[in-house]
Amino acid sequence: MAVIIDGKALSAKLKNNLKDEVEALKGEGIETCLAVIIVGDNPASRVYVNNKKKSCAELGIKSLEYALPEDTTEEELLSLIDELNSDDSVDGILCQLPLPKHICEKNVINSISPRKDVDAFHPENVGHIMIGDYTFLPCTPAGVMEMLKEYEIEIAGKNCVVVGRSNIVGKPMTMLLLKENATVTVCHSRTKDLASFTREADILVSAVGKVGLITADMVKENAVVIDVAINRLESGKLCGDVDFENVKEKASFITPVPGGVGPMTIAVLMKNTVKAAENRKNR
Ligand code: NAP
Repeated sequence: MAVIIDGKALSAKLKNNLKDEVEALKGEGIETCLAVIIVGDNPASRVYVNNKKKSCAELGIKSLEYALPEDTTEEELLSLIDELNSDDSVDGILCQLPLPKHICEKNVINSISPRKDVDAFHPENVGHIMIGDYTFLPCTPAGVMEMLKEYEIEIAGKNCVVVGRSNIVGKPMTMLLLKENATVTVCHSRTKDLASFTREADILVSAVGKVGLITADMVKENAVVIDVAINRLESGKLCGDVDFENVKEKASFITPVPGGVGPMTIAVLMKNTVKAAENRKNR
């Protein structure tokens, strides 16, 4: 049976290490500050924003919340971001996605100053990830890398399969694994015979958002299985893409949902925010 990777405990450990840095910055007169914008009343987004605020409070990071109504115009949102970009007391700016349909996400992402872009979604930061020289780590993929490191899972030379190719998870995940010298295959909705790829994976990362997508017969014996997805069942319970109960009997390591990748994403977000505050000294 697989070792269950405890994302909650590891996230707590990483956040605890950041506490001292936040305190030291305070001693230098820098109060680390994250501005969080949420537009509309998507319940999942509300949960994510609350968790981020809670982590800020735990670490002594000041958080500013801008809860805007659903009918906020793109112009109004961009003008708020502009204000936060030029406010020297704000280190990080995060705009919770998804946004209402009438607002262009690309315009919003592009409007956040790259030096305050703690989600690392701005094309300039994405470019840095591509060439392996980054200021801000992509939160979810970097959280996965922290898990692999903590559990001493070898990456170099391994066959890694990433299912999903989104800009925020699949693509940056591929880049980080490649940087650590894995051989990486990326699968997506147009991949023919997904199982033929996943069965070859020493490390399998699934980031799709489909309940039951990865079944035990699709997983190699002793593979490391990382489930990034967060799906809400009708019962209200959360689960990932992976058939956890059966796959855990076959894998060597596996992440649960909840309590796996999710908490790690927030830990890396906090790390990026502290880094942005450190960079205040160079502004
Ligand atoms: P997304 O933008 O919807 O991307 C999903 C990807 O899955 C796409 O690349 C899509 O392919 C691919 N896909 C869809 N159906 C497929 C299938 N049957 N077989 C193989 N690939 C398929 O989603 P995302 O933002 O990357 O998020 C993915 C999941 O991770 C979601 O459940 C989300 O909630 C979760 N998530 C979790 C965290 C965390 O902190 N744990 C953070 C972010 C996201 P195409 O490109 O061809 O459409």
